[in-house]
Amino acid sequence: MSERPTVEAYKKNIQEGKFRALKCSSCGAVITPPLGTCYNCGGNKMEWTNVSGKGKLVSFTVIHVAPDEFAPEVPYIVAIVELAEKSRVTARLAGFDPLKPEAIKIGIPLVLGYEKGKSGKNYLSFRPA
Ligand SMILES: [Zn+2]
Repeated sequence: MSERPTVEAYKKNIQEGKFRALKCSSCGAVITPPLGTCYNCGGNKMEWTNVSGKGKLVSFTVIHVAPDEFAPEVPYIVAIVELAEKSRVTARLAGFDPLKPEAIKIGIPLVLGYEKGKSGKNYLSFRPA
């Protein structure tokens, strides 16, 4: 019942559409993606925590040349999103034309969703709130 937080379990949760973050048991900092050590206090005890799925856009880039696995999906947008819980995640950005990046504004509110790529994998994906 006490499933130990691991990178594998974190990825498996995303594949199942159940994104969860880790929380430092010592200071409560929310950590994504999973690390062995808390970047706030250096603690190494982590537990699972649910997140609101709300965040804001910090940065993004448009991918035109992708690894083989994702090549059929170009162009696509990869964003860095700051969660309401203050942790940052890298995810796909949906709801915009990757060929019109000038329409994307830094700081816009986003909500978490999922996107199934042509590779058959589920990705974390955010779209405008
Ligand atoms: Zn901590």
